[in-house]
Amino acid sequence: MEDILKIIYICNKNRKILSKHDIKRICEIIIKEKKYDSYVNKINFKSHEELDSVATYDGNELCFYKDGLELLKSITVSDANLNGSKIDLINYKILSTIFHEFAHVRQHIITNSYTDESRIYRICEKLYHIDNFYEDNYSIMLNEVNAFALGNLNAYKIYKNLPRGIITVNDINFYKRDVLNTVLSSYEVDLDKEKVKSPSEQLLNVLKKYDCIKIYDELKKIIEGSKNYNLYNRLLVGLPISFKNYAYVNMFATNFNNDDYKFIKKLQKKK
Ligand SMILES: [Zn+2]
Repeated sequence: MEDILKIIYICNKNRKILSKHDIKRICEIIIKEKKYDSYVNKINFKSHEELDSVATYDGNELCFYKDGLELLKSITVSDANLNGSKIDLINYKILSTIFHEFAHVRQHIITNSYTDESRIYRICEKLYHIDNFYEDNYSIMLNEVNAFALGNLNAYKIYKNLPRGIITVNDINFYKRDVLNTVLSSYEVDLDKEKVKSPSEQLLNVLKKYDCIKIYDELKKIIEGSKNYNLYNRLLVGLPISFKNYAYVNMFATNFNNDDYKFIKKLQKKK
């Protein structure tokens, strides 16, 4: 990851948005490091896609769309707590998009194993074949929940290691909160009743309306058997968490202090 850090460092320092060449180079570094070469045979850039996506992975080709990337560049910096330039934020979003797609690469690779996580991705794959299901339920598709979480988390991990002359402590905190807020945004919370509905439970509710009892039963079994997972692993695939744990994660997501970068370790320790 050292090389990715260098690319981001140079771009952010020179106020330059990651180019096609930079994106390709970052992908190549990840492919080499993770030994993904037989799963990503091609890195492509196309002008546009019917779906308004920034990037896609189809089990073989990783494709970035110019129109989607342009859209990322139009984001506005609304958070008053972000000190850095808009370019830092755009590069963070691009980097997060790259890691998002590599999360899908990883999902594709482990899809045939026998862990609950693999079972979850197999369920998502099946749902992909039901007309409009995926599009209509995009925010609670558990493979997407995972890809958004890992995308932001890995981009944050790079940003956290930028020299302090390039990034302020405040901004590292901004990106940290972004990671956690993204994860929490797929959980439905009822503050009065002190109840939290995870994306997996929301998906289960949707499945009730469809004629797919097998998938419903399978997901139900995974949810029921997930009690022993730590909080970090639950959040990464949208499994149920308690209201107390929701409040705990939210504390990190709203905390403006500078001394809690160990939140990942803390979430991993918590049941
Ligand atoms: Zn995705």
